[in-house]
Amino acid sequence: MMTYTGPVFRPPFEANSLLLQVTSGCSHNKCTFCTMYKNVPFRVSPMEEIEKDLLCAKKMYGSVRRIFLENADPFALSASRLKAIAEKINEVFPDVETIAMYASIKNIIGKTDEELRELRELKINELNIGVESGLDEALTHLNKGFDLEEARTQLKRLNDAGIDFSLNIILGAAGSEKSLSNAIASAKLVNEARPYLIFVATLHVDKGSTLYDEMETGAFVENTLGDNLREELEFLRRLDLNGTAFFGLHTSNVIPLAGTLPKDKADLVDKLEKGIASIPGRVLNSRPEKGYEGAAIIR
Ligand code: SF4
Repeated sequence: MMTYTGPVFRPPFEANSLLLQVTSGCSHNKCTFCTMYKNVPFRVSPMEEIEKDLLCAKKMYGSVRRIFLENADPFALSASRLKAIAEKINEVFPDVETIAMYASIKNIIGKTDEELRELRELKINELNIGVESGLDEALTHLNKGFDLEEARTQLKRLNDAGIDFSLNIILGAAGSEKSLSNAIASAKLVNEARPYLIFVATLHVDKGSTLYDEMETGAFVENTLGDNLREELEFLRRLDLNGTAFFGLHTSNVIPLAGTLPKDKADLVDKLEKGIASIPGRVLNSRPEKGYEGAAIIR
């Protein structure tokens, strides 16, 4: 049996990857909208436990080409620890091509350029980064633990080290009033950072989080369904990328969108514009149940 502690999350596009736990919980655990790991203390898995799980997976699957390290931000581990894990993975699974994981901007800061290159050589690649927004005030409000300048600096360092990354962008991260500014700022950041994939989802404020309390008091006004769609349209229109995948297939995406930029940009914009035009005003002005916004337009 493989070891998993607490809830286990992975991006949808890692559905076929071997999930290997090397940490539990989140080293930050302070974002104002998130309670995912509230009750899971951050823990570094002992090497013996990782080795045992790798041998267990070897017995079950034989050969593995893609591994996704768990949990919320395994890139928080030191470079030497990540190197030891990657070396072990390469030893047990010589066919492995990619060792991916969630990473925070904060996790990159403590690693030297040389260390980043060494990790890339050991197949660590395609980090999934919850940058969430390109708007400084939204990053502060969400308490992401980094600012825009830090995000720009660290993403450039990944590019220079040859480490590919996907970026998560949250529609509605800045609230209803700043929805358009959020789209503009996020597109600017993404255009500069050049991720291989953009994962667009809608703000999900967990009950019990600080942001939830702000919503209850009216201090934070969340996007309506229409705000989210218009924000996505503005974001998409402003993207100027070459070969980046646009992945908007989360259950929180009212109109599912997927394609490659710039090839599919016109089609995606058209689909979004037509979709918005076809949704009744009362639905556009509503705030449907989080995580299932897509279902709102088929009711
Ligand atoms: S959003 Fe991610 S980084 Fe922030 S507390 Fe939740 S798991 Fe941790």
